[in-house]
Amino acid sequence: MSTRSPLVRGMRDLYADELASIRSVESVFGDRLESYGYELIRLPTMERTALFTRGIGESTDAVSKEMFTLDDETDSLSLRPEGTASCVRAVIDANMYRGNQPKLWYAGSMFRHERPQLGRYREFFQVGAEAFGFDGPDVDAELIRIVQDVWEILDIADEITLEINSLGNATSRRRHRNALVEYLAQFNDQLDEDSQRRLDQNPLRILDSKNDRTQKILEQAPSISDYLDDESRNHFEEFQERLERFGIKASVNTHLVRGLDYYTHAVFEWNTDKLGAQKQVGGGGRYDGLCELLGGVPCPAAGFAIGIDRVALLRNELGIASPTSHPDVYVIALSDEEDDFALDVAAKLRTESSLKVRVHQGGGKVKARMRAADRSGAAIALIIGAQEAASNHVSLKWLRINREQVTVPVTELPTTLLNSN
Ligand code: AMP
Repeated sequence: MSTRSPLVRGMRDLYADELASIRSVESVFGDRLESYGYELIRLPTMERTALFTRGIGESTDAVSKEMFTLDDETDSLSLRPEGTASCVRAVIDANMYRGNQPKLWYAGSMFRHERPQLGRYREFFQVGAEAFGFDGPDVDAELIRIVQDVWEILDIADEITLEINSLGNATSRRRHRNALVEYLAQFNDQLDEDSQRRLDQNPLRILDSKNDRTQKILEQAPSISDYLDDESRNHFEEFQERLERFGIKASVNTHLVRGLDYYTHAVFEWNTDKLGAQKQVGGGGRYDGLCELLGGVPCPAAGFAIGIDRVALLRNELGIASPTSHPDVYVIALSDEEDDFALDVAAKLRTESSLKVRVHQGGGKVKARMRAADRSGAAIALIIGAQEAASNHVSLKWLRINREQVTVPVTELPTTLLNSN
């Protein structure tokens, strides 16, 4: 009887080049964020369900339909569908913003019970950043600049577009919401089912609807841009001016509301048309009311989250080479006599270069050892026979390109290898 247990739907084993590509995107984000003074925070994967229902909002799909929830003895717990609510909770718990303005970044798995397809998984990875204690649009613009830097470093800036909108402050939002509900109520029976439900709970989200008939009705709907008060308008204008100064192109989409309840003022989304149905690679915005909503003292804040899987997929689609996971160099001693010498050569290489060096183990005939070198994915085999060991030399054999084998002194090995491609 078979005892194999298949992989859970929507989950993936990540390894080899796919993982290398995801890790490299994550590390570019991490390095860039740290270069702007953002500090890493590691957050738990599981939180009380109430944190997400309160913090993200029960009327969002991520919370109402897509959470992985389990009942603990006393509490309902859920795997996190995103990172912001946890980050805010952590800041409140540790009183991090008392007399301080923390700028934090995080990376990790998020979970949503969605229908899996390319670029959409039930466990996926995000990098996110959150800045607490600043109410000015300079922080919003900085967040966008960091992401723009990363697109450029990753060579995908031309394939990503940025959309922005302002939801205004609480007063503007409320006024617009009332006008929107009043307008949409006239068409209640013509709206799609989801939108009808949202009319009471979260009418702004109706603007997101993919339903054609609903979209038609929305064409004449009151636009948030007409309801921004002076404070909100100034905030948004300064935000746009700053982006312009940074040379960052953005288009205003007055239907952009983001799925989540807590946004105020600037909201933004990065999209690509290179990934089929999964257009969105990231999003974010300002959420000045969230700290208070989650039981902390009022504290303005803004942040973003990027879907790392999609960024890695996009690079792949565009044929951009990512780092690989396999070793660069495969060291083969031709007999047991040369084993120690081979280990010393490998150790020297690891110390003097950042090359990934794998040493052959498990014996075998020369042909089998060479086959193992080939299978390892390494670009170069270092071959060490009795003669080489005696004269402190190694032979280099290129495994992927047509190039003549050479023998070099061990002292010259790191430089030869680093200049070899
Ligand atoms: P959100 O928190 O919904 O704004 O999502 C932020 C980013 O996470 C999105 O732009 C996507 O790139 C990514 N994302 C969201 N859901 C998924 C998913 N199910 N699979 C892969 N990536 C996702």
